[in-house]
Amino acid sequence: MGHHFGDLAKIRHVITYSISPFEQRAFPNYFSKGIPNVWRRFKTSVFKVAPPRWLDCGRLFFSYSWTFLSSSRRLFGRSMASESVTRFDFLVIGGGSGGLAVARRAAELGATAAVIESNKLGGTCVSKDHPAPVMWSTSTHAEYLHDHEDYGFEGAKAHFSWQLIKRKRDAYVSRLNQIYRNNLDKGKIESIHGYARFTDDPEPTVEVNGKKFTAPHILIATGGHPSTVSEDDVPGASLGITSDGFFELESCPKRSVIVGAGYIAVEMAGILSTLGSKTSIIIRQGGVLRNFDALISSNCTKELQNHGIDLRKNSQVKSVQKTDKGLSVKLVTKDPDDKDAQEKCDTIHEVDCLLWAIGREPNTAGLNLSSIGVKLDERGHIVVDEFQNTTHAGVYAVGDVCGRALLTPVAIAAGRKLAHRLFEGKADSKINYNNIPTVVFSHPPIGTVGLTEDEAIKTWGKDSVKVYTTSFTPMYYAITTRKSQCIMKLVCAGKNEKVVGLHMQGFGCDEMLQGFAVAVNMGATKEDFDRTIAIHPTSSEELVTLR
Ligand SMILES: Cc1cc2nc3c(=O)[nH]c(=O)nc-3n(C[C@H](O)[C@H](O)[C@H](O)COP(=O)(O)OP(=O)(O)OC[C@H]3O[C@@H](n4cnc5c(N)ncnc54)[C@H](O)[C@@H]3O)c2cc1C
Repeated sequence: MGHHFGDLAKIRHVITYSISPFEQRAFPNYFSKGIPNVWRRFKTSVFKVAPPRWLDCGRLFFSYSWTFLSSSRRLFGRSMASESVTRFDFLVIGGGSGGLAVARRAAELGATAAVIESNKLGGTCVSKDHPAPVMWSTSTHAEYLHDHEDYGFEGAKAHFSWQLIKRKRDAYVSRLNQIYRNNLDKGKIESIHGYARFTDDPEPTVEVNGKKFTAPHILIATGGHPSTVSEDDVPGASLGITSDGFFELESCPKRSVIVGAGYIAVEMAGILSTLGSKTSIIIRQGGVLRNFDALISSNCTKELQNHGIDLRKNSQVKSVQKTDKGLSVKLVTKDPDDKDAQEKCDTIHEVDCLLWAIGREPNTAGLNLSSIGVKLDERGHIVVDEFQNTTHAGVYAVGDVCGRALLTPVAIAAGRKLAHRLFEGKADSKINYNNIPTVVFSHPPIGTVGLTEDEAIKTWGKDSVKVYTTSFTPMYYAITTRKSQCIMKLVCAGKNEKVVGLHMQGFGCDEMLQGFAVAVNMGATKEDFDRTIAIHPTSSEELVTLR
């Protein structure tokens, strides 16, 4: 039988019991009636009994929490004073997408939970993935302005104010931070502000601002941060910013250089270019989004160029210098396929925004994880099994810190599944990492779910994979001088042509994807797609009429 005494925010106390089947038989009434009856006598308390629930190990878990207003402190002062570690049922490190979602679900299931956050509540999702689509929508408006006259709005002229959209975006982010705080309060979840670090205590314990906290279940959801380049590798590299700095820009840069070929580089380049910044994108190889389907990678690379972005393939930044007219970014370019090719050097002058978008790294370095033996991979991500268990029993990890499918809904889903496993006894509760739909807010947007053609061939064999593709001009552009193509690909496998991958780029593909992802997740076949009556005239109808 385990008894845990502790104080939450000085006036809140928790007792949790986990009892074995033997103890349950021996004392049938003690835990369900006896203890609550004694404490109900304290009229000054707000008493809460969580429903008993089964733990993975077969033990029955009870939790009583109550808030004393005054006399309780005198009553329990001694035990609290001798206890320097505050205990919860569930301790979450990181108040981002994953951490907040799991803490709320755990609290709903009756656990006493606390979230430790060193920054503002909401994490990367609130500070980056909400502002990014705001900026994407802003740039989409800028694109539509070109079509106004084609749609009969003569003489429509607009002045764009970066300052105004930044102000509104920042206010939106602050509102979200506040909403997250209110949600924690409503869920009676303790919020601890500060940087968490594991101590060397024998029981996993976390220290924040000199105070110690522990729980039988501790979750690490500390996310990641943008990778940077060292001054040793690229002199002057620190004159650039990362995606974090992008959201702090006070005005639209006149001349931008983005380094990187992933989705963040593509999104930022698209936003800046569409809003009027002369933009170059520097990529080490021949195309962007190289881990996407080859059709998406080549089409997106082409679309960036169609949008007037200066794309430097097979190139790397050699050095950066500050001048009185901005930054001078020196590049070297070498075609890897041409063995005789010489390295070419070039310099982009008068750059007022150099943005490194070269990947993300996990926030694990400062956690002192070696003290509890939590294993990391070679890039510092926390190694977890399919149930989000780390290599230390009772310590779990979800979200970007695990390095798999770095997306907000993935962190949230993995966290909620974990809460149901730990606090509702659902032993099989785990996330399915297959068929995760992904949207890239490029111009035009990309939607993709399932296997790429190459992955399908590797899994199913070339003869068992059939691919359907199409390319067309969406209706929207029928009467505009500005044109943009939509491309689509269905990857089907096996005799019954199960749809194992769906990839598209074009007008509306961002919103089109979610419903199709349901079909792919349910195992729809090409015939199921074909049997579905088309919605005319839309772009999505092309996916159910492919031949
Ligand atoms: C520019 C950009 C655009 C993106 N766009 C999208 C998008 O459109 N759609 C999408 O699904 N995903 C997007 N993402 C990815 C998404 O933001 C992440 O996958 C998601 O936020 C991961 O959630 P998390 O809970 O793992 O980590 P985070 O949300 O990063 O939260 C981690 C939190 O832990 C805190 N923390 C770290 N260390 C400690 C410590 N030791 N003690 C206390 N607190 C600590 C951090 O301050 C942070 O608040 C984008 C990311 C970026 C950078």
